[in-house]
Amino acid sequence: MAPFTSPLAEALAPELLERFLRYVRVDTQSERDRTQSPSTPGQLDLSRMLVDELREVGLEDAELDDNGYVMATLPSTLNGDAPTIGLIAHVDTSPDESGTGVEPIVHRGYDGAVLELPRNGAVLDPAVLKELAGKEGHDLVTASGDTLLGADDKAGVAEIMTAVAHLAAHPELPRPTLRIAFTPDEEIGHGATLFDVERFGAACAYTLDGSKLGELQDETFTASEALITIRGVETHPGFATGKMVNASRLAGEVLAALPADLTPEATSGREGFIHVVEINATVGKAVIRVIVRDFDDDLLERHIALLRRTVEEIVATEPRARVEIDVTHQYPNMRTYIEEFPAVVEAAEEAIRGEGIEPVRTPIRGGTDGSRLSQMGLPTPNIFTGGHEYHSVREWASVQEMAAAAATVVRLAEVWARRR
Ligand SMILES: [Zn+2]
Repeated sequence: MAPFTSPLAEALAPELLERFLRYVRVDTQSERDRTQSPSTPGQLDLSRMLVDELREVGLEDAELDDNGYVMATLPSTLNGDAPTIGLIAHVDTSPDESGTGVEPIVHRGYDGAVLELPRNGAVLDPAVLKELAGKEGHDLVTASGDTLLGADDKAGVAEIMTAVAHLAAHPELPRPTLRIAFTPDEEIGHGATLFDVERFGAACAYTLDGSKLGELQDETFTASEALITIRGVETHPGFATGKMVNASRLAGEVLAALPADLTPEATSGREGFIHVVEINATVGKAVIRVIVRDFDDDLLERHIALLRRTVEEIVATEPRARVEIDVTHQYPNMRTYIEEFPAVVEAAEEAIRGEGIEPVRTPIRGGTDGSRLSQMGLPTPNIFTGGHEYHSVREWASVQEMAAAAATVVRLAEVWARRR
């Protein structure tokens, strides 16, 4: 068996796994273009279960609000003041892959070979999935091949629940007041939208929504979305000579003209991109949905300017065509807000090191609930969960790494208790 990072992690693992397997079976997939919060009723099934379980372990004020947010308090065991610390994970799973009928499989003591899942010929090959290589001896959890697993972010939910249950059962351990929140609709960009920061009442918080062992992230992309609407001139194709202006063809030219080296598939690390996520096109009207990302706000503005210029130049070649470009800001790079409070990241580093792990400081090529929460006045970096290959049927999680994350949360409480 792979060594656990600590006796604490090993002790937490059985309960953690049990919780995780229970939570992933609930279909909590969120839905884009929501008309209510949460976007789907399945999320409430898990949220209600979490409220019951929080009350069972002694967090009596646990409740679900009208917008689908679970909040609860674990009171401090200290005499006197310490800052209130928040712990946050999201209950929904990605709309990119099915979350219906998830049947988790536990592969005890992984032997390093290709893992074959029972459905749809799905395989996890360590030669392809780099993070799987080196996990020999770990107990791995996968889905069955036709759904995602939902470790994003039920690993985070199970880790917080397990750590909080442990702390509640051990009042002799020093801890500040902890506030717990489970959010809906993170995957569709709305985890923070209706989050009541004031009611939550924490000085800072941590999302458990990362991946690799040891990850600690205080930087996300700055994100914008551009909606480009090209209007052509519709006519019967038989009588189109000299009259028709085909918006679909113009859209095709725009796509071809966008730089191929500024795409998600061609960039990595700290590089930004312009990513066409959706096209809907007819002769009369073409709508191109583009997301633009960068860690640097000036570079982001440059990408947007390049996108505008490209679209306008191409549409200008056909004077009868019209174009509108509508750019909206989505979320900011949270670093700007977190770096004012260095103790928040330092405490997490100390907790991760306390678990015998070297913190891995990588920027997130995406956003988390913390991007907007940090901007809303709640500095919220992100901590690893031990889940991998998110948003795919190959999603997997390591029990040993999930246990390390739960143990890190227990240590984080102690670090803050000592820091007061
Ligand atoms: Zn997530």
